[in-house]
Amino acid sequence: MARILITSALPYINGIKHLGNLVGSQLPADLYARYMRARGHEVMFICATDEHGTPAELAAAKAEQPVDIYCAEMHETQAALARGFKLSFDHFGRSSSARNHALTQHMAGRLNAAGLISEVSEKQVYSNADGRFLPDRYIEGTCPNCGYERARGDQCENCTKQLSPTDLLEPHSAISGSTDLEVRETKHLFLRQSTLRDQLDAWIDTKTDWPILTTSIAKKWLHDGDGLRDRGITRDLDWGIAVKDGDNDWPGMEGKVFYVWFDAPIEYIAATAEWADANGLNEAAWRRWWREDEGADDVRYVQFMGKDNVPFHTLSFPATQMGANFDGSEPWKMVDYIKSFNYLNYDGGQFSTSQGRGVFMDQALSILPSDYWRWWLLSHAPESNDSEFTWENFQASVNKDLADVLGNLVSRVTKFCRSKFSEAVPEGGEMGAPEAQLIADLTTRIRSYEALMEGMEVRKSAAELRAIWALGNEYLQEAAPWSVFKTDPAQAAMQIRLALNLIRLYAVLSKPFVPDAAAAMMAAMGADDWRWPEDISDALTTLPAGHEFTTPDVLFSKITDEQRDDWAARFSGVRA
Ligand SMILES: [Zn+2]
Repeated sequence: MARILITSALPYINGIKHLGNLVGSQLPADLYARYMRARGHEVMFICATDEHGTPAELAAAKAEQPVDIYCAEMHETQAALARGFKLSFDHFGRSSSARNHALTQHMAGRLNAAGLISEVSEKQVYSNADGRFLPDRYIEGTCPNCGYERARGDQCENCTKQLSPTDLLEPHSAISGSTDLEVRETKHLFLRQSTLRDQLDAWIDTKTDWPILTTSIAKKWLHDGDGLRDRGITRDLDWGIAVKDGDNDWPGMEGKVFYVWFDAPIEYIAATAEWADANGLNEAAWRRWWREDEGADDVRYVQFMGKDNVPFHTLSFPATQMGANFDGSEPWKMVDYIKSFNYLNYDGGQFSTSQGRGVFMDQALSILPSDYWRWWLLSHAPESNDSEFTWENFQASVNKDLADVLGNLVSRVTKFCRSKFSEAVPEGGEMGAPEAQLIADLTTRIRSYEALMEGMEVRKSAAELRAIWALGNEYLQEAAPWSVFKTDPAQAAMQIRLALNLIRLYAVLSKPFVPDAAAAMMAAMGADDWRWPEDISDALTTLPAGHEFTTPDVLFSKITDEQRDDWAARFSGVRA
């Protein structure tokens, strides 16, 4: 038994996530967590909402709520949707937790003790009316290049010219509209990542099993131009984690908070501490996952994320962890493998949270159960390339894979048995060559499925599972118990006994992808035996003759053309 720590990139708090976000980290992470648990490993699966930063403040202002209330409510909304999609987090935490405040301040203190923090004076725009410094994007004005009146302080979206706030004509605050702005000097802390460059470089070089895509992104940031740059870790905001040097005040940093990129990955650790707190466990319970000197030396740590998050997870967060261990006294568990994803597009364009384009998690669950979405998203996960959601493809995939292949097998076998025998596993007959062949074929495919799941090959795993389901249908097609029954009822009984056992086996194998359907299949078989099949022949004799089952309701309904067209129209525009 191994110990596996799994984290999914943290969903940002400013709204409900779309299906592209879901398949870019949380859902494949859940697939992997479920599989590893099914194989008997000890798993810690962590996620949380990422709650700090200006976008959270603005979303709260738009919702006319105080930012802490807004975040608390949106966290509950996101947590409920995660439960709806059956995401099996051990804990779904909050980056605004007391645990993360304390740990982020602690990490900053360690980095300061290591000499890895510098203070830098910057000139920034201050809005007197708003009583705050404004990030570049929240200053608007007229573009000096093209005359566009709503250019932002970082860029004109009309002519795409890169700007700095002082370039804008008639600049004003995007928050209040006030023109009472001035440039003020402000002091910020920087993490001196540049001094850790060689250490990070050597560490990346040990990751020989990482995809080239991942290591090449890290290497580019390490070596392009002047090499890895130092990064600001503080901001002039109200909402966030107060800048402290461990437990002590940080002179000159009063009223400032840590920059969200600094505290968010630390929440992976803090959320595990939140898990211990929520379960009444002690410090050792979470530290054995994160501290190599307190039990985490045998943990394998796997991170899931979209490709845009790779630089932070290969460089900035490792820099924080390495820096905090400058004297060898705090060996934090660092990532062993990063699984990153490309983008899922929506019907000829991009999913967009800001524009409300695409299908969002709440909308998806309002029209179909989570298994339908889980299956489509995972079997079309954007791994080697971007992939695209279309309603035609969704309908075809659900109807063919789930209804025709898996659902139909369960329905045919149970209904036939009920009508010709009873709702109990029938007795009689002996297995022959066709059954031996089926067992051999299943064994080959299941061993292949295991290897693909261990390797986090999401689409290929789905294809292998679909092929495993198809083997059952092919066997039944050729064995044809409905014909055999007329001349040799004992032979038909053996075939159906095998097929009923196949349903239980499919429940075990399919649970990581479609957990609700798997539970329904297992319950219908009157069983609760979720042991992973080591020997397929044994696994197919688990339910003995005489064992009672119930004929289940339809597992998967087909999507009609009317439904497809209705949904395509409903979700073609932008969300209100
Ligand atoms: Zn312009």
